[in-house]
Amino acid sequence: MKPDLHNSIWEHLAPPRKPAPKLAQALTADVVIIGGGLTGLSAAYHLAKSGRQVALIESRTIGWGGSGRNNGQVIPTLAAMEPAAMESRYGEQAALFIHMVRDSAGELFDFISTHKLACDAEQTGWFQPAHSPDHLRLSEARVSAWQKYGAPVELLDKSAGDALLGSSHWHGGMLNRSGGHINPLKLSHELARLCAENGVQSFEHTPATAITPKGDGWQITTPEGEISANAVLLATNAYTDENIEPRIARSIVPLTAYQLATEPLTEAQRAEIIPARQAISDTRGDLWYFRYTSDHRLVTGAALLLKAGAKPRLQALLKRRLETAFPSLAPLSFSHVWNGFVGITADFTPRFHELGPNYYSFTGYNGRGLALTLPIGREFANKINGQPCALPFEAPRQIPLHGVVKRVARSRLILTRLQDKQRYKP
Ligand SMILES: Cc1cc2nc3c(=O)[nH]c(=O)nc-3n(C[C@H](O)[C@H](O)[C@H](O)COP(=O)(O)OP(=O)(O)OC[C@H]3O[C@@H](n4cnc5c(N)ncnc54)[C@H](O)[C@@H]3O)c2cc1C
Repeated sequence: MKPDLHNSIWEHLAPPRKPAPKLAQALTADVVIIGGGLTGLSAAYHLAKSGRQVALIESRTIGWGGSGRNNGQVIPTLAAMEPAAMESRYGEQAALFIHMVRDSAGELFDFISTHKLACDAEQTGWFQPAHSPDHLRLSEARVSAWQKYGAPVELLDKSAGDALLGSSHWHGGMLNRSGGHINPLKLSHELARLCAENGVQSFEHTPATAITPKGDGWQITTPEGEISANAVLLATNAYTDENIEPRIARSIVPLTAYQLATEPLTEAQRAEIIPARQAISDTRGDLWYFRYTSDHRLVTGAALLLKAGAKPRLQALLKRRLETAFPSLAPLSFSHVWNGFVGITADFTPRFHELGPNYYSFTGYNGRGLALTLPIGREFANKINGQPCALPFEAPRQIPLHGVVKRVARSRLILTRLQDKQRYKP
């Protein structure tokens, strides 16, 4: 299955838009953003609002990367680092960063509502159900860790969790009321519109082919034009080309994740299954996750060990999962199947980098970046403007034997599935 955004339900639900032009001239700007995903767009918007001249280039179309293809769950946590680990890793910088993560979902929904971004936003909450009675202790630990930082989280016992889900498959879990879901491609398009309204010059089908020092700043080469700028943000994440910036490309493993949308559910099914339409992703490493679309489908997804025959195997796997959790969905069929790269780092945590004077980048949100893209883009804008910044900067951490790891990374799924079957040990 080749990546094709046109197969996604998000593309199907998005209105037509006027594409940005290709860059076909030499240009000067204060800041160049490379990558038209949500991180790049957020940085571009915040820089433009602060009065900087910003050019943004995207190799394909706005939202073509993870930003337009994801599950759309707005989740204010990291994939694999709890507040205590952030405290010990980031020292003095930790509190700022933890607060940024804690507030990320609420901030995104507030931003969407303030700027009237039409992206089917539903701030219905994010629920992380425990997949075994044991794992409810993990939920308990997470609730108390986040409550210490004032996050709007609470523990639901099995009966409250069952009522929220319309399923007895899980065992209670952690509810965060600031989360929810959106159509991520529509959000990307709307943020691009807001950027344009604030003076950002965006160019699509304009890949950066080289980033080279020029005077006190940088020159970005593209096939039909160059941009000179004082500062650069490389926001290409899991789609980073090894020839452009090997330090970033070799710090990430782009893991293919598949997404599937069901046919629309009936009114009776919707009244029973997640009736208040929260975003759901459980405590498994090989996550079970779902959310409603504006036209009442469930969107779910998974990774696979082998790519061959992906589409039928995925449909069988996810049909089995959904019908196990929600028996009244049977017989289930899917209308849309697509995929995208999740940027995975060696320790499953994101990292923020200063690659040279006024040259910034980051690696890997590890499948949980949607809520974070808005504040992280804003914080990069602060850094570029010489303002206080909540991001803990670290050196890139390249993955040893990256080429080999990239090829075999999917096999880790075997271990993850085994771990999911084991008891939770605090
Ligand atoms: C299938 C899937 C499901 C996910 N589900 C969720 C979820 O439910 N919740 C959640 O929080 N997170 C989720 N994620 C993760 C989330 O999508 C990402 O963390 C987020 O979108 C990252 O945004 P970004 O702007 O950093 O990168 P991207 O959106 O990937 O943007 C990078 C852009 O850079 C462009 N680019 C690359 N090279 C060049 C170049 N040389 N020149 C110009 N442009 C270039 C690419 O075309 C791309 O558009 C999911 C990811 C996937 C793939």
